[in-house]
Amino acid sequence: MKFINLESHPYELKFKVPLQTAKGCYEYRRGAIIKLFINDMIGLGEVAPLEGFHKEELFECYYSLEAINQTLQNTTEITGEELFHIFKLHSDRAPSLLFALETALFDILSQQSKLSLNHYLNPQSINEIHLNGLHTVHQPSDNFKVVKVKLGYNNIYDDIEKMSEISSLYKQDVKFRIDVNEQLDLPRAIRFCKSMEQFNIEYIEQPLPKNELEDLSELRMHTEIPIALDESVFDLQSVNKIIEMQAADIFVIKPMVVGGYAEIKTIINLAKENDIKCIITNMLDGAINRMACMHIASANQIIEACGLSADNLFTSDLSYVTPEIINGLILMPKLNGLGFSND
Ligand SMILES: [Mg+2]
Repeated sequence: MKFINLESHPYELKFKVPLQTAKGCYEYRRGAIIKLFINDMIGLGEVAPLEGFHKEELFECYYSLEAINQTLQNTTEITGEELFHIFKLHSDRAPSLLFALETALFDILSQQSKLSLNHYLNPQSINEIHLNGLHTVHQPSDNFKVVKVKLGYNNIYDDIEKMSEISSLYKQDVKFRIDVNEQLDLPRAIRFCKSMEQFNIEYIEQPLPKNELEDLSELRMHTEIPIALDESVFDLQSVNKIIEMQAADIFVIKPMVVGGYAEIKTIINLAKENDIKCIITNMLDGAINRMACMHIASANQIIEACGLSADNLFTSDLSYVTPEIINGLILMPKLNGLGFSND
């Protein structure tokens, strides 16, 4: 392959409504579009470590990019293998950057093979991806079969009242995911889970702090509701510990937190071997990362509803359009590479 250039283009996306999270309030989402120029093709990636959630910061990713560009300075001919190696070497401590670079390279490799990215990764990719809706972002009329709700910040009686209000807004067969974002301790989590059993709950996500695996394992014995772990899942090592401790029924995987595509696949395969379901989600990313996550979900045959429906959070998104969501479902594009129709 003929290496031409590697560029980064900073972006700033404004949230329609400032976003309150467990780690603070966000008005803007900042990151950069990565453009990898090989032969006559452009591969796209997106690096956007989220402040307070990622261990690396955006400026550190720029330093790593500079080092990569120096390494590649006088390079013309290079193999995909060599590029993967250089990317990994320089983004060892920045998984969000590794994810962006690998996405751009896989975009190139699949275009070169005249395949969509998901089919390049796995010929047996699935064509439909189910997505969950977000209560407050989406409406009951959007017809999501699974809706995510954030609770656990108030006392349990208020949460029960809130959950019963929310339940009454949706059709009876709609399932809810309750994301607690590490807000509870074991005794409160046991009471919380018990009190939520009266509703149609698919799972409760990260009820306890991410490192309290022993308590999470204990909690699973006290409730009928499956326990999903999100913040606890960040690399292969963390996943191995969770499996060893039997602390989860579901993994919520954020590819931009794990970093490399191979590691993501290993985590999903380990989960399957241990009867743990997986869902793929993102971190309020722009269109490129959401699209990359859709390809990963498709290639890894994820049939659970994935957390990739937030396509209307910003006043204007990156100028790439992700597939339209109809009744909580998207169809994977048939175009080569990432498959944006307007790039
Ligand atoms: Mg979560």
